Amino acid sequence: MELHFDYIIAGAGCAGLSLAYKMSIDPFFDDKKILLIDKDDKNKQDRTWCFWEDTNSVFEEIVSSSWKNIAFKSTNFAKTESIHPYVYKMIRSENFYAFCLGKINRKKNITALKGDIAKMVSNGIGTYIEVNAQKIYAAKIFSSILLEEPNLKPTDIYLLQHFTGWVIETKQAQFNADVATIMDFSIAQTHGTSFVYVLPMSSQKALVEYTLFTEEVLDKKQYQDALKNYIANHLHITDYNITEREFGVIPMTNYQFKRQDNHIHFIGTAGGATKASSGYTFTFIQQQTNQIITKIKNNAPIDTAITPAKFTWYDAILLHLLATKMLGGKEIFTRLFQKNKFVFILQFLNNSSTLPQEINMMRTLQIGKFIKAAWQRLF
Ligand SMILES: Cc1cc2nc3c(=O)[nH]c(=O)nc-3n(C[C@H](O)[C@H](O)[C@H](O)COP(=O)(O)OP(=O)(O)OC[C@H]3O[C@@H](n4cnc5c(N)ncnc54)[C@H](O)[C@@H]3O)c2cc1C
Repeated sequence: MELHFDYIIAGAGCAGLSLAYKMSIDPFFDDKKILLIDKDDKNKQDRTWCFWEDTNSVFEEIVSSSWKNIAFKSTNFAKTESIHPYVYKMIRSENFYAFCLGKINRKKNITALKGDIAKMVSNGIGTYIEVNAQKIYAAKIFSSILLEEPNLKPTDIYLLQHFTGWVIETKQAQFNADVATIMDFSIAQTHGTSFVYVLPMSSQKALVEYTLFTEEVLDKKQYQDALKNYIANHLHITDYNITEREFGVIPMTNYQFKRQDNHIHFIGTAGGATKASSGYTFTFIQQQTNQIITKIKNNAPIDTAITPAKFTWYDAILLHLLATKMLGGKEIFTRLFQKNKFVFILQFLNNSSTLPQEINMMRTLQIGKFIKAAWQRLF
């Protein structure tokens, strides 16, 4: 028998589950047959998502830690500032998966299936996936899976944001749980742009993450040595237990991910939701999935593009500065945080700043180099 759904959601990670969850809580979708499919059991603590917002989203009840103040550090500069009206928030993946799947699994119209998708097709004959040696058809597919490697043009920049993080616990109070250090650049830049962030979950527990923006990932030991060194020499902590570990690689690229292939719509990182100059994705996935829900309900053509053109341009210039080493990441972010209110920087990173704010920020980045990079991107 031919299986047919209204929507197939291919990939049940952050984007797929955000979309499925939002469909599950909206009565508009109660009469739609939806298939959610992933190759893995989504139940692990494999990542933590941090983001900032000035209101509460549908995921507020699973926010595990939050901060109203953030700190930035570099070699000769350190500052802590309130980010009102924003709050910087953390969601743990195991809570996110359980929360979304808990709701989705109670809906009769949504089927969650485990399977490794081998193929996705949308042509004159139909729109379908091939999974577990079976074809499953749908009117539309929303995919956070890239089955093909990006086909880069010579002008595309493709850096990697890669990181290893440890949750450490200490016997004594060591952390100020009111402040999240989102970037500490006061470390060696041996491998390229490198910083550490420290997100305290209590006075005795924090996620410490060593992060790089470079072309190649490091050996496992290099991340471990950097973390050990930071904990000993910057946090001055000698007695601690590592209770969790995470590792991640996120593309930082101006490559234009394919948005659509007939009735297949790409979402999440595969759909260009990762901000090219920072790697932040969670907030953009929420914008993208909200936009899809609205388009479907208004019977409008689906559009998964969420980045205004000017931010695509700024991101490309920042990437160019980083990739050509005209300005290192340490210099870019130190200049930004030294000379701008943190709230403006967060607005800029969320693609919600205004033109006067952006001009001010560009000035703080050595406008000459910014213009030179823009010129080189154009020609
Ligand atoms: C460790 C880590 C920490 C991060 N922290 C942050 C953060 O703090 N803030 C932020 O904004 N962003 C963060 N990101 C970036 C981004 O938010 C995440 O990568 C996010 O999970 C992207 O969502 P996604 O749905 O696009 O991809 P994923 O969450 O990776 O989901 C893709 C899904 O597709 C499934 N899949 C893949 N291939 C197949 C196949 N052939 N068949 C079936 N299923 C398949 C996978 O199993 C996976 O579940 C982080 C990323 C990582 C890796």
